[in-house]
Amino acid sequence: MSSDCIFCKIVSNDIPAKKFYEDEEVIAFHDIRPIAPVHFLIVPKGHVESLAGCDASHQALLGKILLLAPKLATQLGLKGFRTMINTGREGGQEVFHIHVHVFGGGETLPKT
Ligand code: AMP
Ligand code: ZN
Repeated sequence: MSSDCIFCKIVSNDIPAKKFYEDEEVIAFHDIRPIAPVHFLIVPKGHVESLAGCDASHQALLGKILLLAPKLATQLGLKGFRTMINTGREGGQEVFHIHVHVFGGGETLPKT
């Protein structure tokens, strides 16, 4: 737990979020500023800054998060989705607690 981390505070329920999935290791909640009709984040409960801060000890957790993405996307009615992991300030990361964005719904997403 990092005391000034907004996602740690969501994990500990110190600030509210539209959580719709939780297990012993991860949570998922809807992004507060969605960029698609459905846009959620999968977040490990433990504080890790970014993908660049991961090592072999995080391998199973990262795999779990990726395998969870299609399950949760299907639960929310998505037939396809895009995943995004922003890493570091230059990578567009704003919240320095690793998270995977999952978004889709509505129109076919443009090619990146
Ligand atoms: P990133 O740029 O990858 O670090 O993305 C951070 C994401 O977290 C952004 O899409 C924000 O809209 C989202 N976000 C920030 N604060 C909250 C919050 N309190 N609840 C839900 N989503 C949030
Ligand atoms: Zn954190």
